[in-house]
Amino acid sequence: MFKIGCHLSISSGYEAMIREAIGIGAGVIQFFTRNPRGGATKPLDPADIDAFNSLAAEYSVGPVLAHAPYTMNPAAAKPELREYALNTMTDDLERLAFIPGSMYNFHPGCHVSQGADVGIGHITELLKKLLEVDSPTVILLETMAGKGTEIGGRFEEIAEIIKLSGNASADKLGVCLDTCHVYDGGYDIANDLDGVLEEFDSLIGLDRLKAIHLNDSKFGFSSHKDRHACIGEGLLGLDAIVRIINHPKLRELPFYLETPNDVPGYGREIAMLKSCRSQD
Ligand code: FE
Ligand code: FE
Ligand code: ZN
Repeated sequence: MFKIGCHLSISSGYEAMIREAIGIGAGVIQFFTRNPRGGATKPLDPADIDAFNSLAAEYSVGPVLAHAPYTMNPAAAKPELREYALNTMTDDLERLAFIPGSMYNFHPGCHVSQGADVGIGHITELLKKLLEVDSPTVILLETMAGKGTEIGGRFEEIAEIIKLSGNASADKLGVCLDTCHVYDGGYDIANDLDGVLEEFDSLIGLDRLKAIHLNDSKFGFSSHKDRHACIGEGLLGLDAIVRIINHPKLRELPFYLETPNDVPGYGREIAMLKSCRSQD
């Protein structure tokens, strides 16, 4: 089954969000766990979560991917910023325990002026603590575009983080591959998708690949800009994206659009991509 969906807003609650997803034919959902600028979150409403879970079961929506706020920095030099990231992520995992099969995606962070090794050290210390949280939710590291001092733009860095944080099993710690980011980061998924997947497999292991952020890229190969484009309107292009959603090693994964769209626009992209999917 083709699991294709998009990023939606949680601001009107879980039930409203899943009704919106069903309305546009989305089979998976991603949402930000809280205002990306950080801050307090509303307490969970058990009735809202129950309504969400029963609709998700009825319409086979899932897996649900929660995205950590991108403004926090798990690689930050200041201990209080890393503490804040850990507390936020711990709280998020506790909330996600109420959504069966959920996954939790985060950006590894920016080392700023500390150097990648020091940044990776901070991330792995945080991950070790996070992995101690008794949670059914799989944690995903997102592949980044390598913009500025971002960590996670190279598969080697992701592999290093996984190894140094204790090599948790793939059902605890995985990877979300963002098509805009990797293309932007210098992996040519437009012309050599097989080669990139082989490299991913040898460094990280394809068993850890749990989700795809499906985005076109406003800028070209290896530009390190991280600007998403609508499907077919960027420099990655529709042909490459159609090969990605149909690739035998990727096609069973959930695909989450994070393209610059309103909700009806996501609906149109989902319908278009369904028409480009080869038969199961
Ligand atoms: Fe992201
Ligand atoms: Fe992404
Ligand atoms: Zn991005």
